[in-house]
Amino acid sequence: MIKIGILGYGNLGRGVECAVKQNPDMELAAVFTRRNPADVKILTEGASICSISEVPDWKDRIDVMILCGGSATDLPEQTPAYAELFHVVDSFDTHARIPEHFANVDKASKKGGKVGIISVGWDPGMFSLNRLYASAVLPKGQDYTFWGKGVSQGHSDAVRRVEGVKDAKQYTVPVDAALEAVRKGDNPTLSTRQKHTRECFVVLEEGADAAKVEKEIKTMPNYFADYDTTVHFISQEELDRDHGGIPHGGFVLYSGKTGWEEENSHLIEYRLKLDSNPEFTASVLAAYARAAYRLGAEGVSGCKTVFDIAPAYLSQKDGETLRASLL
Ligand code: NDP
Repeated sequence: MIKIGILGYGNLGRGVECAVKQNPDMELAAVFTRRNPADVKILTEGASICSISEVPDWKDRIDVMILCGGSATDLPEQTPAYAELFHVVDSFDTHARIPEHFANVDKASKKGGKVGIISVGWDPGMFSLNRLYASAVLPKGQDYTFWGKGVSQGHSDAVRRVEGVKDAKQYTVPVDAALEAVRKGDNPTLSTRQKHTRECFVVLEEGADAAKVEKEIKTMPNYFADYDTTVHFISQEELDRDHGGIPHGGFVLYSGKTGWEEENSHLIEYRLKLDSNPEFTASVLAAYARAAYRLGAEGVSGCKTVFDIAPAYLSQKDGETLRASLL
């Protein structure tokens, strides 16, 4: 039985708890939080809810600690801090800082003789793997990634910061015409505006000027100015009723050519359509926790990404069963 710890109990932490329930070779030992543990309710009977200060006491009672904090400020601190004590897995998704995060986790994991797997999820994660498989198999080609339709937490936050906005949800939506052009094998060059549109559902503060709010959203640099954005004004009841979930997903497409004159075209398509972004991400984290545990048992240590882990390490099935399913 692989004993799992969850550090940080937000959307992702709750998702990991659900994922552990679906994996019979895993059990949840404890959840750790920076908040008062008495204020945090978990679902698993028999698991402990502890303060983050108690983590070191669990060194010999947890095999893999799954880090569920936010990428912006939590994970850069937390993953290296605990990688020396446990095998760790995180979903770090700040692309530009991955090399630095890798180096910090690698140092700590090697010091403790542990395995740390970082940037696990769907992007980075399953999407990254699919881009790699496609370009390795078809070196003459091009990849395209489309996100959505789904909720962008960062863009929703940005809309909520506009003066006059009480609450808001923002969806990123791929443009159908761009998807179709890629599927046809045209290898189009697509601008930011041609690939995605943005759709905002906004609840106004009482007396706020709708036209002013809409203009401010649509012209916001870095977030909306480079996109065609639609703004819908709705009531708080409608927002809560129709936009309460955290769906997401997207497409990785790869269009490649083979043949002496590159006369034949091939299209690879990987699609995710997720009712719950954090629950899916958490399910990927659980599979990679199994890989960390198995690699650790083989004496491996240091930091890894999804690129370094062979698929069989993720599966509940043993090698013989997997080989029987090769065809
Ligand atoms: P949340 O904001 O829900 O949780 C982040 C942390 O905030 C928690 O670990 C928790 O720490 C704290 N927290 C949660 N709820 C509360 C609350 N009510 N009051 C006070 N503190 C709270 O973030 P998510 O779980 O949705 O996402 C975590 C990260 O996952 C994101 O930053 C993102 O980078 C990453 N991610 C990666 C993906 C990928 O594909 N690689 C996909 C999706 C997400 P504590 O318990 O210690 O208070």
